[in-house]
Amino acid sequence: MIKRLKKLIEESTRLAVVMHQNPDGDAMGSALALYEYANDSGTSATVISPTPINENLLWMPHSEHIFIFDETLQSHQKQLQEFDTVVFVDHSSDGRNGSVSDYLTAPTEKRVFIDHHPSPNLEVAIAISEVESAATCCVLYEIFVALNAHISKTMGTCLYTGIITDTGNFRYGKGMAQLFRITSELIILGIDKEQVTQQIYYSNTENRLRLLGFVLNEKMKRVGNHAAYITLTEQEISSLNAKYNDTEDFVNYPLTIKDVYISAIFIEKDDYIKISLRSRVEFDVNLLARNHFNGGGHQNASGGRFYGTLQEATDLYSKNII
Ligand code: 5GP
Ligand code: MN
Repeated sequence: MIKRLKKLIEESTRLAVVMHQNPDGDAMGSALALYEYANDSGTSATVISPTPINENLLWMPHSEHIFIFDETLQSHQKQLQEFDTVVFVDHSSDGRNGSVSDYLTAPTEKRVFIDHHPSPNLEVAIAISEVESAATCCVLYEIFVALNAHISKTMGTCLYTGIITDTGNFRYGKGMAQLFRITSELIILGIDKEQVTQQIYYSNTENRLRLLGFVLNEKMKRVGNHAAYITLTEQEISSLNAKYNDTEDFVNYPLTIKDVYISAIFIEKDDYIKISLRSRVEFDVNLLARNHFNGGGHQNASGGRFYGTLQEATDLYSKNII
């Protein structure tokens, strides 16, 4: 499979590396490392994002070359038809890359995904799906090793970013033995671990921290004995001069309460409510997202959308977790 992937990349003249919407460190890390690998192999690659990139990831190597797809532009729609080969990274289910899939014309035989999410359903010729890996960046690292590829320090930096962001800095996720082995190999390679840590964990804006204060004080509710949730509207976010992206990771805060095991955040957007779900027990929030919130993800971290009011969304959540 990996040899076929290598051949596909080498034979491609225009390779698209597609990330999911609101790309996180793992989507960015795997896409940008693959971008460098492909370009080093003589293939012209482009990383495509269905939505703008969160400011806190714009320091990542090669991120200045990312193509931010805008569906309203015909020129962008046309550009997607120019790619002969496509690799989807860090997602493998329909709808996760917005409308990018709708405009790509590369045939199925020239499509690949590299991922670690359960229940893939994208139609591809090569499906690399490692649900036991903590991050797509781990899966990609193993691919590079199998291909005997040169892993540069910048590639290593990208991969390490995905590793720490998908595991909450080594706190959770599957495949811990693999994760620490790969991390050790990346450190031996000479990546600047401190620089990544600084960029990810010491880059809050004051507005974001004040929004967090407001959220924890006013917007966090307990439900039942072991769950909590947060609600937030875009208006509340902008009234504190913060941005939607500033809410990333807020959902994890209720889980740090001693007896809270399930957490959610509901953010009212223009025409739907964006939901993030987390658990730190067996309780499967992936199923909750799939069954009730038009989404999916992993057992302990998932997300989705709800079409209705905030009240209806939180009622549905409360009903299904108690
Ligand atoms: P987050 O809550 O950080 O946006 O996402 C957590 C996890 O849930 C990620 O692994 C992501 O892939 C998955 N996820 C988030 N939103 C959606 C969604 O709308 N649909 C699906 N299928 N998965 C989602
Ligand atoms: Mn991931």
